[in-house]
Amino acid sequence: MRLCTNNQVSVRKEGSADPALAVATDTWEYGWQWRAACRGEDAGLFFPPAHVEPKEARLTRERKAKIICSTCPVRMECLDYALRIREAHGVWGGLNELERRVLLRERLQPDAERLRLVGES
Ligand code: SF4
Repeated sequence: MRLCTNNQVSVRKEGSADPALAVATDTWEYGWQWRAACRGEDAGLFFPPAHVEPKEARLTRERKAKIICSTCPVRMECLDYALRIREAHGVWGGLNELERRVLLRERLQPDAERLRLVGES
């Protein structure tokens, strides 16, 4: 996630005022990142450009990133990390930001449903 590699994080940190990113980089979890399949890869595959990106270009870029992720031995660690810090950008653990948002919503849904049922009893 690449997102997980030093290369990506340093690229992302530049010019970012995102507090979540600051937390992520300040609490860098050394270990699994060193085994990332994206180490040394073009970070531009995993994050959108600063300019408007046409849909086809985004799909192509993300497809290439996800192919790398599919071979990654630390994909789950990467995805867990991105979900935990609510990473808002890029492909992490083989999922783009929208896919992670859906996953988070699905994970939270059972709790919300349980609370709703408890409130009704
Ligand atoms: S899952 Fe993808 S983005 Fe995350 S460390 Fe592996 S290759 Fe990089």
